[in-house]
Amino acid sequence: MSDNQNTIEMLKKAGLRLTKQRIFIGDLLFGSKHKHVSAESVYNQIEELGKKMALATVYNCLHHFHKAGLLKKVNGLNDVIIFDTNLCYHHHFLNVETGELTDIDESNVSIAELPSLPEGFETESMELTIRVKPQT
Ligand SMILES: [Zn+2]
Repeated sequence: MSDNQNTIEMLKKAGLRLTKQRIFIGDLLFGSKHKHVSAESVYNQIEELGKKMALATVYNCLHHFHKAGLLKKVNGLNDVIIFDTNLCYHHHFLNVETGELTDIDESNVSIAELPSLPEGFETESMELTIRVKPQT
């Protein structure tokens, strides 16, 4: 079905069962460029391509990709879950007018001072989101 053998290999390697929907969504997501997508944006993209897929199916598929380590989750505007194909450690600009996320390379951020952690805890991860809006 897919002309993207890479997607099939990638899904297999991640231990995911191959379904038509997963291969189709995988083809949309895992190209050469990194993407930030929501279930809705993928759903709309599929519709624009003249295909039909239930929003719940798209949502489940993205969650399975996330669980399998193929996507990262990022909080978007208004708590919308954004799935990120860039798995490297990085930060984001979040445009509060459009909801668009832009990657910030980790090497461009240095944090001079951090509070001490609560007793009994260690850092799991730390990601910076800089919320931006057009200058008025
Ligand atoms: Zn990102």
